[in-house]
Amino acid sequence: MQPLAFVDIETTGSNFERDRITEVAIATLQGNQTEYWETLLNPEILIPTFIQSLTGISSQMVQDKPLFSEIGPEIYRHLDQKIFVAHNARFDYGFLKAAFQNIGLNFKPKVVCTVKLSRLLFPQEKKHNLDSILERYSIVNTARHRAMGDAKAILQFWQHCEKEFGAQRILEAVQTLLGKQSLPPHIDGKIIEAIPDTPGVYLFFGENKECLYIGKSKNIKTRVLSHFQSSLKQRKEAKLSLQIREIDWIETSGELGALLLESELIKKRLPLMNIRLRKTSSMHAWQLTPSPSGYLIPTLISKRDLEPGLQENLYGLFKSRRDALNYMRGITEKYSLCEAVMGLESTKPGQSCFAFQLKKCFGDCVGQGNQQLHNLKLTTALENLRLQKWPYRAAVAIKEGDVCHVFDQWCYLGASKTLEDTEDLVKNATPEFDQDIYKIAKKHLSSVAKQQVFELDLPRKY
Ligand SMILES: [Zn+2]
Repeated sequence: MQPLAFVDIETTGSNFERDRITEVAIATLQGNQTEYWETLLNPEILIPTFIQSLTGISSQMVQDKPLFSEIGPEIYRHLDQKIFVAHNARFDYGFLKAAFQNIGLNFKPKVVCTVKLSRLLFPQEKKHNLDSILERYSIVNTARHRAMGDAKAILQFWQHCEKEFGAQRILEAVQTLLGKQSLPPHIDGKIIEAIPDTPGVYLFFGENKECLYIGKSKNIKTRVLSHFQSSLKQRKEAKLSLQIREIDWIETSGELGALLLESELIKKRLPLMNIRLRKTSSMHAWQLTPSPSGYLIPTLISKRDLEPGLQENLYGLFKSRRDALNYMRGITEKYSLCEAVMGLESTKPGQSCFAFQLKKCFGDCVGQGNQQLHNLKLTTALENLRLQKWPYRAAVAIKEGDVCHVFDQWCYLGASKTLEDTEDLVKNATPEFDQDIYKIAKKHLSSVAKQQVFELDLPRKY
């Protein structure tokens, strides 16, 4: 990306024709490098008292400072070849453009307004003025309403956005704001216009209504547009963009609704370009149970006997027996566990495993190992695959907007309009465990406010 110039100016007022600039600050960001430049200016007119008290810039402070006609070319050099970034950019850009014009300089940078950036990235927020933004992200501004104080503050806001969304997303947002998005050749701009800025799921179709891709977002429009912006750089997105003939979308009550619907639709429609969420019919997990000697022994449990959410000490899931075994072999080797204890090698009683002869096992097979250490290494190695037990006594409803999503034992039972309606839902449910739903529900239940979750004291049929 081009270097960015975060600009703020102070003026004698808000009229482009009559008022003049009293201060210019430019904070340049190039890669990770920052550079600061600022100057006060003699506006050659009186600074009104209320502006003096707002900015702290008095007429005395600027009377021996350079005129714009003197220092203008230097300001121009500091902004040249950079993207002009400002909060309410029209104001700062408008003043500078007019001032440059007066001294015969044509100023035409790419302009990005951080109010618009904030609206684009944080559509859920209502206020996008600088004070609200600074407060929201705890950005400290030691010189509010002085040019450099504000320029540095918007630079920090930008860095906050990069941290939260990643540089790629910010680049896409900048392209959107610069009007540089490229639409797919077969898609009318009016369709894009019609896509709402709300949470939901979107579907891309190719020729003959073939489903190409299904995605979800807190903001469908922004997400759909970001596909087309990255199509300028990424081959996969470029290919998708060429194939799209139709776009469809379904609004949802919120992010959870979008995640659940996305998962359901992908499994139903098997879009050509979604790989991650495709349904897997086969499931396996390891269960750890202590042997009489105290060693935790892994047992492979396959779909028929698997009750995720109900069984203790379950680790997985794996798509096939082979995947599960390969995984266990991998950690056995990596953590120098004993293959015989792990059940991966059959040995006669009293006989050591093969790895012991190579000094890669600590002798757990022949009573020389440390049982506690062996157990600890095994559970630590498996920790991130642990399948959590269902933490509630019964089914729960999670309220999102005007919808109740009902879950039980990590299975999704469906949605209802009111809490009263959930009774039928639970009564008629035939829950089926699904790893994606498990992940969605687990993540959501750990982050959602407690008052949004309702334990349903209803009899289960299943
Ligand atoms: Zn061994």
